[in-house]
Amino acid sequence: MSQTYDSIIIGQGLAGSILAYRLLISGKKVLVIDNQHHGSSSKVAAGIINPITGYRLITNVLLSKQRECSLRLYKELEKLLNQKLVSELKQFRLLKSEEQASFWEKRKNHSTYKDYAGDSFSSFEPFLKNDFGVVEIHKTLRIHTSELLLNLKQWLIKNNSYLVQKIHHHKIEVSTNKITIGQLESQNIIFCEGYQVRHNPWWKHLPFKLSKGEILKVELDRPINAMLNWRQWLVPDSESGKTALLGANYEWGEFSNEDACNVTSEAREYLMMRLANNTKLNAKLIEQTAGVRPTPTHRYPYIGSHKESSNVFCFNGFGSKGCLTIPYYSSLFADHLIKNTPLPEDVTRWL
Ligand SMILES: Cc1cc2nc3c(=O)[nH]c(=O)nc-3n(C[C@H](O)[C@H](O)[C@H](O)COP(=O)(O)OP(=O)(O)OC[C@H]3O[C@@H](n4cnc5c(N)ncnc54)[C@H](O)[C@@H]3O)c2cc1C
Repeated sequence: MSQTYDSIIIGQGLAGSILAYRLLISGKKVLVIDNQHHGSSSKVAAGIINPITGYRLITNVLLSKQRECSLRLYKELEKLLNQKLVSELKQFRLLKSEEQASFWEKRKNHSTYKDYAGDSFSSFEPFLKNDFGVVEIHKTLRIHTSELLLNLKQWLIKNNSYLVQKIHHHKIEVSTNKITIGQLESQNIIFCEGYQVRHNPWWKHLPFKLSKGEILKVELDRPINAMLNWRQWLVPDSESGKTALLGANYEWGEFSNEDACNVTSEAREYLMMRLANNTKLNAKLIEQTAGVRPTPTHRYPYIGSHKESSNVFCFNGFGSKGCLTIPYYSSLFADHLIKNTPLPEDVTRWL
């Protein structure tokens, strides 16, 4: 039996799921198709929304707007799905050099940072060496991404909007007013394929600098009740604080689907070594996961329609910050699809 949709979305990572939610609640008929790939980024993400990042301790001008938009959306989804999806997280960041401490001094009183820059401490248990001090970063959030994906999948199934299938791009027929995939028909198709976009003939040209990341779930010898950040980080993963996520490394390159989810002893040893060099905590490995971040070469994600086929869309390139940026950009993109509002040039430039 043939089925007709307003949008077919390929990929049920954070991007496809959240966009589908926005379109469905606006009354659109949507089908999400996913191939259940284990190396997808959203499946392994720690879900941290960290307001101040990088060696230079920077934030971005859109942060407040994006954080507000994310919080609103995740709270709305908590109500809909009757599931805890977002938690406030205390964060302590170890400063690693005199130069980094001077970046902090410069930034902390600047208006963009005032809501996020907390107190400074000369030392903080359980960091090992506190030569350049420790600072508190306010308003850090943790999104429970696996619960979010699982529950949104159930919600999509209930709304007859979900199909498990690998989409072979050569089986997609595109004409000016219709997309056909076998017996499925749609006005448009939106690719939210994460790093697997590399195999997509419409979007192969997009400049990506993919980065594989691995995360360890560990049991600690004593509990923590805050995120500890020394470039890598440790985030409590249970009420008791005895289990935590330790992450993440960055390995740049191209990855086959098999490589993407293969965990490595190199990453495991590296993360454990960094923990031992920076904290007094001992950790026992429980689980190790890997995925590939769809990191764009430029600063902005890739959103909008294909130059030659106006009903073929891309919603991708959320890199290492999808939990913060996907709620914001999905709102702009849903408005674009429904009301034809223009998208910012920053996100359409490379399409
Ligand atoms: C180790 C690690 C830690 C991270 N930690 C954080 C963090 O703390 N905070 C944060 O904000 N971000 C984090 N990220 C980044 C975050 O995961 C991404 O920004 C975000 O999840 C990207 O979502 P996406 O939906 O674009 O891609 P993906 O999550 O990769 O989703 C793509 C989906 O499309 C499906 N798919 C692809 N091709 C096809 C096809 N042809 N047919 C059918 N289905 C298809 C895949 O199976 C997958 O389900 C982390 C990433 C990694 C790897």
